Amino acid sequence: MARATLTIDLDAIAANWRALAAMGEAEAGAVVKADAYGLGAARVAAALAAAGARSFFVALAEEGAELRRTLGPSPDIFVFSGHMDGDSAAIRDAALIPLLNAPEQARRHRAALPGHPFGVQLDTGMNRLGMEEAEWQALAPTLLAEKPRLLMSHLACADEPDRPMNAAQLGAFRRMTDGAGVARSLAATGGILLGRDYHFDLTRPGIGLYGGQPFAAAHPVVTLSLPVIQIRDVAPGETVGYGNTWTAPRPSRVATLAAGYADGLIRAMTGRARVFAGATPCPLVGRVSMDMTGADVTHLAEPPEALDILCPAQGVDTLAEAAGTIGYEILTALGPRYARIHKGATA
Ligand SMILES: *Cc1c(COP(=O)(O)O)cnc(C)c1O
Repeated sequence: MARATLTIDLDAIAANWRALAAMGEAEAGAVVKADAYGLGAARVAAALAAAGARSFFVALAEEGAELRRTLGPSPDIFVFSGHMDGDSAAIRDAALIPLLNAPEQARRHRAALPGHPFGVQLDTGMNRLGMEEAEWQALAPTLLAEKPRLLMSHLACADEPDRPMNAAQLGAFRRMTDGAGVARSLAATGGILLGRDYHFDLTRPGIGLYGGQPFAAAHPVVTLSLPVIQIRDVAPGETVGYGNTWTAPRPSRVATLAAGYADGLIRAMTGRARVFAGATPCPLVGRVSMDMTGADVTHLAEPPEALDILCPAQGVDTLAEAAGTIGYEILTALGPRYARIHKGATA
């Protein structure tokens, strides 16, 4: 079979969630947007619910509606994009909690679904989503009277503890929410690691659950194993792949692996990333193409049947660094063609 295998360790995800939850007193939620960062939202969310998570976050109402079918009626499902035009039926039917980000959304929510639970998203300096301080001051009396479920904001630089932006956003969040008498949330994974001042009532870890930085102590979660379709001998001076970008410097053996940029092994990995036979690295050679990638296996004693590109020897952040990106992008780019195998007690 030429289909590559992406193995997802649900016990490791649950252990990462518990470890992040244990860093403070706040309730730990779980961010499962973008199909749980590409790892399968239904299986991941079920495992996290079994571990004790009661509050989930998604980006879109459609994601929330699907998640509700998986999780049943009890957990809270918050929607970061708030209440968009066309979302009302999904929000009502799936009992989602939109995080309203502008006065216009507050009006839409009140008109379409009066009395339906909501939260409010505040901008504390990132300028991506959320009400500005002046907008919030004008609306707070009315919105607070309707008892929002959550007041939240998002940190722009939480993965860099030394940035003064973190304390500035914390100060702004406090100024806008102190005394409101409503549950508050500021910290994603990076914010949790900044310390308890940032935790408030509910945290929103995402990447840390899935084994990525900045949660350095995370258990590794994913293994991505690529079958070898063919191994060929390449004579010195011969080239490999599109554009002849790699020339064999010596008699070489090159394995052709069954995944490429259509599967999220981005073309920028060409000539920079490695795959592994156990702990032994094999450099990628030739351009990463749509469905295939070459690796130099000359130094391996046995011809490999498969080589791993994500494994204990190479985590998402190491691979990301080789490709000039971040672990988040490596995970969410993992394509739909992999056989996703969920393992662990909660699988
Ligand atoms: C994606 C996201 C999170 C989770 O962030 P991580 O860095 O993956 O932990 C939390 N809050 C908001 C608003 C987000 O968009």
